[in-house]
Amino acid sequence: MLELLFLLLPVAVAYGWVMGRNSLRRAQRKQSSILSNHYYKGLNLLLSDQADKAVDTFMKMISVNTDTVETHIAMGNFFRHRGELDRAIRVHQNLISREEINGQQQAMALVELGSDYLLAGFLERAEGVFLQLLDNDKHFPVAQQKLFNIYQVTKEWHKALELASRSLKITPNDEVMYLYLSHFYCEQALELLQEGDEKEAERTLKKAILVEGKEVRPWLELGKFSIQKEQYALAMDYLAEIPKRDIDWLSEAIPLLEKCAEKVDAWDKLDSIIEPYWEKCASSYIAKVKIIALDKDSRTATEILLKQLKQHPTIRGFKALLGLYADQTEDMVIKKSIEELQLLMDKQISQRPKYHCHSCGFSGRQLYWLCPSCKNWSTIKPVVGIDGE
Ligand SMILES: [Zn+2]
Repeated sequence: MLELLFLLLPVAVAYGWVMGRNSLRRAQRKQSSILSNHYYKGLNLLLSDQADKAVDTFMKMISVNTDTVETHIAMGNFFRHRGELDRAIRVHQNLISREEINGQQQAMALVELGSDYLLAGFLERAEGVFLQLLDNDKHFPVAQQKLFNIYQVTKEWHKALELASRSLKITPNDEVMYLYLSHFYCEQALELLQEGDEKEAERTLKKAILVEGKEVRPWLELGKFSIQKEQYALAMDYLAEIPKRDIDWLSEAIPLLEKCAEKVDAWDKLDSIIEPYWEKCASSYIAKVKIIALDKDSRTATEILLKQLKQHPTIRGFKALLGLYADQTEDMVIKKSIEELQLLMDKQISQRPKYHCHSCGFSGRQLYWLCPSCKNWSTIKPVVGIDGE
């Protein structure tokens, strides 16, 4: 009898295995049927334009666990890309509130939630989210960039400065961050000027120079600031630093230098400042021939300008040449015709962009240090060529 029981043992084991497997399959079929029901229900709701109910149904369908976090994130991103930001926020918020997900997954969901808030214009909430992510090494660069974007919109330059300084403690060789710092100081200085705190504004501009010696902006701002205070000789010293740093910005300094030279009769000083670079742009060669015309005679100035225009033609140069011809004639009819031609040239110049972004191609007549299109600092420069410099 005992032997018979032993003989039946493998049969019992096999029976138990088969029954167990069938029971698992039944459970899987039941789960699959639930998912399938939710899926079709959700799809129907989406197709019948009841997206809110569809979101609820899909969220029920995929219970949150560590394996389905990415699916939830993708679902939220899908809604964000469609511009349905309230739904994107609901999906990502739901994810963050769950205890089942781990720290890294929560951080991933936070990045997406912050992006939802940014797009929806909830800047304070977005700031809160990205500030939390600054402590996460993996997401620090994204959080930092998004926070800069926020502070640039809200013009909270003290916060931008704090963040840039914090970044430099982590990556002291990050050259872009020094450029950011320099611009943030310049922006802060302009605000201080508007508030009437001239001393602090000047100190802040000098900080901008200390953090990034190659940037032209603080020198240009110091030049303008000194002109406002009628310190023309000092303004010329500041503006003289611009071509040493970036020759492309000489054209921006020239009109200010000319203004100073005119105020304190410092044409010799202007001449010595532009001497090494006067052939580089239209503004500088026009200034040079103006000095020659003042010093010598307009015929010599005309010869030099003509020679320059053959190598580097610009509408502004031709307009200056016509001005020199007008100076050399007593004929009022010719003078009148030249004036009319100059007005036409002015019209053409005023319709052309003065600045151009080398990163995204944006162009316009107003100077922006932060490109309004691609949001990069220092990518906009004066336009060169026949219509520009
Ligand atoms: Zn741009």
